[in-house]
Amino acid sequence: MKLILLGAPGAGKGTQAERIAKKLNIPTISTGFIIRQAISAQTDLGKIAKDFIDKGQLVPDEVVIKILFERIKEDDCKNGFILDGFPRTIPQAEALVEADIRIDKVLSIELEDEVILDRLSGRRECSKCGKTFHVLFQKPQKEGICDVCGGELICRKDDNPETIKSRLSVYHKQTEPLIAFYKNMGILAPVESKKDVEATTKEVFKALGV
Ligand code: ADP
Ligand code: ZN
Repeated sequence: MKLILLGAPGAGKGTQAERIAKKLNIPTISTGFIIRQAISAQTDLGKIAKDFIDKGQLVPDEVVIKILFERIKEDDCKNGFILDGFPRTIPQAEALVEADIRIDKVLSIELEDEVILDRLSGRRECSKCGKTFHVLFQKPQKEGICDVCGGELICRKDDNPETIKSRLSVYHKQTEPLIAFYKNMGILAPVESKKDVEATTKEVFKALGV
């Protein structure tokens, strides 16, 4: 099964991706996480991407497309994968079509902008494994420490009110058109992001028929 998760920043793509991954036993590929790892490791890619991310802008298509295509060549993607954060532009979606990568379903996780700000400002991410937590809605067992791997939880640099605003406007301008793109392909499944993570997961599984 090859899936795409669409949705604004903070809509809960990563959280749902993690649950689908467990249920279907396929990996989640988060381009955002790959890029952040590259930035902290100060690789060439990281150096290119840093300024874009810090401003809340998208990393250029050709860079992200290359990262993604390399990642899905790996062994663990043989039986499928979940894309979290890719595609984010029409040219990225077209690159998948051109490479003949057939997507089974696109889950579009929908949420109003007002809710997003609260969610993102309390979000924390494990610096080691990338799992996300929230200081109010999804607390770790031990403050500041990842439940899964013991890594340190950090606040993403782009999760500040100013940058969140530009990320939202980028989302509406560049990513939202993908909803119509996939609707036309007949593979779009809209899901409402509920307050409760479990309830959203239920809707997601229903949409996937699993
Ligand atoms: P969120 O969806 O919560 O904004 P992500 O971790 O998916 O967080 O992405 C963070 C940042 O990484 C984006 O704002 C963007 O700068 C960059 N990025 C991630 N995926 C892509 C992509 N497919 N195309 C361009 N830039 C990307
Ligand atoms: Zn961790």
